[in-house]
Amino acid sequence: MSSWRATVFTLFPEMLPGPLGVSLAGDALVRGVWTLETQDIRDHGIGRHRSVDDTPAGGGAGMVLRADVLAASLDAGLAAGDTRPRLLMSPRGAPLTQAQVRDLSQRQGVVLVCGRFEGIDERIIEARGLTEVSIGDYVLSGGELAAMVLLDAAVRLLPGVMGKEASGAEESFEDGRLEYPHYTKPRDFEGRAIPEILLSGDHAKIAAWRKAEALRITQERRPDLLQGAEAKAEPRKR
Ligand code: SAM
Repeated sequence: MSSWRATVFTLFPEMLPGPLGVSLAGDALVRGVWTLETQDIRDHGIGRHRSVDDTPAGGGAGMVLRADVLAASLDAGLAAGDTRPRLLMSPRGAPLTQAQVRDLSQRQGVVLVCGRFEGIDERIIEARGLTEVSIGDYVLSGGELAAMVLLDAAVRLLPGVMGKEASGAEESFEDGRLEYPHYTKPRDFEGRAIPEILLSGDHAKIAAWRKAEALRITQERRPDLLQGAEAKAEPRKR
């Protein structure tokens, strides 16, 4: 099977693979399960100084990444028939979800565009069919860390990265639930014991306990997830 391909458009290609070069993702990168290509947007900058930004139309603070520069970079860096999703890392985007990450991991790969400064010229979004994606309700100084978060989440779901027994199917956000608590040795930690049932060897009871704990924790911390899962399970009656 061919590798899952990630292409990242950035002004700071040296930031990658960064943390993706170690542990699960790094090992998978070395084994060729996925490939990572960076495209330096500045290669298409204008003039002797390879300028990529300019002042915002209408005035105001900061600088804006130019649409023509980014278009030149995207057009040169992507083949005509490339059907991978093109995502722009952006605090204005829809929040990234596990379902979206899983969907991306099942495609051929992804194209990620990293903004900088005050952001990028709005016109490029429609002109090059970019979809805005946010990793949370806070503002980073650039899209690279957000791109790496997305890639880490997607790469670990690729076949052969986590191993068969840890497919991620029981993890948080799967099935609209947060995950149940984990325990390991020692049996007694500073007077705190492992729940008896986990030491019982009764797999059916353990599975039921984990399911109940996952539900309890989700109800306490993220009731919105349960509502979302119910809404998906039961299409609205007319
Ligand atoms: N002025 C923009 C705003 O208020 O929405 C913020 C621009 S931010 C300083 C520069 C770049 O960082 C953005 O273009 C985007 O690529 C990236 N970025 C910042 N926060 C992000 C987030 N929460 N999720 C994804 N990307 C983000």
